[in-house]
Amino acid sequence: MIKIHDKNFELYLSEKEILDAVKRIAGEIASDYKDEIPIFVGVLNGSFMFVSDFLRHYPHPCEVSFVKLSSYRGLTSTGIVETLLDVPENIEGRNVIILEDIIDTGRTLQELVHMFSNVNVKDFRIASLFFKSDVYNGEYAIDYFGMEIPDRFIVGYGLDYMEQGRNLRDVYQINKAHMINLVLFGKPGAGKGTQAGFLKEKYNLKHISTGDVFRYNIKNDTKLGQLAKSYMDKGDLVPDEVTIDMLKEEVEKNPDASGFIFDGFPRTTAQAEALDNFLDSRDMKIDATIALEADDEVLIERLLERGKVSGRPDDQDETKIRNRFEEYNQKTAPLREYYQAQGKFHSVNGIGNIEEITGRLSSVIETLC
Ligand code: AMP
Repeated sequence: MIKIHDKNFELYLSEKEILDAVKRIAGEIASDYKDEIPIFVGVLNGSFMFVSDFLRHYPHPCEVSFVKLSSYRGLTSTGIVETLLDVPENIEGRNVIILEDIIDTGRTLQELVHMFSNVNVKDFRIASLFFKSDVYNGEYAIDYFGMEIPDRFIVGYGLDYMEQGRNLRDVYQINKAHMINLVLFGKPGAGKGTQAGFLKEKYNLKHISTGDVFRYNIKNDTKLGQLAKSYMDKGDLVPDEVTIDMLKEEVEKNPDASGFIFDGFPRTTAQAEALDNFLDSRDMKIDATIALEADDEVLIERLLERGKVSGRPDDQDETKIRNRFEEYNQKTAPLREYYQAQGKFHSVNGIGNIEEITGRLSSVIETLC
């Protein structure tokens, strides 16, 4: 076990296992390109160790160059990738093989392919030491890869966590045993979003509000937003398939999170089951579901007040609000039993001042730490 910044990591792949994979890729490429002089293009920063060991095991004439991209994780799925070191010169008509340390969703790869699309190369291939096939959703085939790995955050052998850990010879994965994953449960207006805002700071958790993600998509007029809008405007639930996929994507965007607060999800039994299965596949689990309880009449008053400030159409009309409560009673309320059966359900009085309520929630969370 090692600690980098605030996180614990455990040994995942030994130096020997990694080098075996590197040698294997070098062997495969060598047999495909023995009659050519390929140019290998490493993607900085992460790939420097891979490129170095790869070249040591590549037996034929070759050249090497580098590109550098920097990817930022925004609030949502639109990761922006910036080019810091561009396509090498004199690669026209050459056999270009990209050497990546890791391919996960494929966002960086897409940008790389785009970078090279203006150059007339003889052929263009992609080799990656690690490949997260579960989360890869790009359209390009990965021609060579060393190891398929699950969607865990890893460091070492060139890969970093907040810039540290690149010098480790072995690869480590984040230890999920100390994660805290919470579901905040309650009717619209119960204060889930407000409380999540405090709890995420206090316990260093990532807050995922499905309602917020939908609203962000509506604001940016994405396909997902257009689809969700028709349901949300009436106060109906967005279909499970759409919501579940979106939720998974949000979790996957944060592989280094110390834990999550799920706010507004799950809202149906199908969503709760999908969440349990998904977390289980990532070696994670829900630790507690905490309900914020308040009377309908108090909530309606709160929501109408909120609607005046936020402009949310579903908060401004009492009929829509009542429809959301109806949806809750029919589809979401049964989750109380679902989580009670797992011994994870906790109930907290949602009436009072904000700090008092944060205090009540914190008492539950502290029993989990
Ligand atoms: P909220 O901000 O959580 O009140 O959500 C606003 C609206 O977004 C809901 O009324 C639904 O139309 C939609 N929504 C949010 N989360 C979900 C979910 N888990 N399942 C289905 N629809 C959702």
